[in-house]
Amino acid sequence: MDETNPSQQQTRASQSALETVLDSLDALVYVADMQTHELLFLNAYGRARWGEVDHRKCWETLQQGQEGPCSFCNNHRLLDSHGQPTGVQVWEFRNTHNQRWYQCRDQAIRWPDGRWVRLEIATDISDIKLLQAQLRNAQHRAEQLAHEDELTGLANRRALFALGQSAIEQARRLGHPVALIGLDADHFKQINDQHGHAAGDAALTALASILRSLTRAADICARLGGEEFAIVLPGTDLAAATELAERLRQAITDMRVEYQGKQLLLTCSFGVTASEQGAASLEQLLSSADIATYRAKHLGRDRVAVEHIIPVTKTE
Ligand code: GH3
Ligand code: MG
Ligand code: MG
Repeated sequence: MDETNPSQQQTRASQSALETVLDSLDALVYVADMQTHELLFLNAYGRARWGEVDHRKCWETLQQGQEGPCSFCNNHRLLDSHGQPTGVQVWEFRNTHNQRWYQCRDQAIRWPDGRWVRLEIATDISDIKLLQAQLRNAQHRAEQLAHEDELTGLANRRALFALGQSAIEQARRLGHPVALIGLDADHFKQINDQHGHAAGDAALTALASILRSLTRAADICARLGGEEFAIVLPGTDLAAATELAERLRQAITDMRVEYQGKQLLLTCSFGVTASEQGAASLEQLLSSADIATYRAKHLGRDRVAVEHIIPVTKTE
């Protein structure tokens, strides 16, 4: 027989209903004394992951390897300077026990015995965090691809124009020369025809590595498309650019690209041009280098040809 009166029985029934609800939540709910950090309540979600309350403190139960309260404890934010609750504080946190991410919603509430306690409801947001990280990576990759040639990792045509334009403007301001080396792989179609497209790709990637390794960080190496490349050389005159083109030509001729047990050979034709004091536009430099490359092809390929830019004289 139940010895308690009907009102006590009703209180017990509603407490049990409340616990049933709290223990059914797919979220951590706990209550801790704001002064002593003693854990006063932990729902079933919390007990299943962090163990029983067992007179422990919140930081002993919920965190790992701590000698005292959490350095990130936000109890001081839950009451204002007049000791009144500040409302719900929302934050995200990676639990040190299970390494999962939680969105924590904390507030100060009055416990039945009158003291202020901290009530936290925390939901697992690890899946959302993972998706956010994947999305950030995808955005970063998309931004990279907008400026980068996917096969070789060099600047693409769009980036060459953006970076080249500003290099020319700077040279114009400083009165420095700017050179441009254009290059086109010789009989490249034959490499694809003889060894396959993937072998051609391997040769283009190896060629790009040579361009990168023999140029300075300030030079802009770009793949214009197909088997055509260009290098903008700020602060470089025609003589220095021609020397560099010759070094590049030699390095490419000496290169042996290993592909599926075969050694691929490659040569390139080079067109070099330069403008003093950055006077020529990027379009002028490209078309002038193109003329020179065309001449190098005609003269037998695997060589460097030079084209001077004729300064435009203004007429009244
Ligand atoms: P030339 O010495 O006159 O420049 O001869 P070429 O064969 O290099 O020139 P052509 O313009 O006839 O052919 C260019 C070839 O480059 C044809 C094309 O399939 C190949 N090519 C263009 N882009 C790529 C690429 O990304 N990968 C591979 N493997 N081949 C490519
Ligand atoms: Mg070509
Ligand atoms: Mg070619």
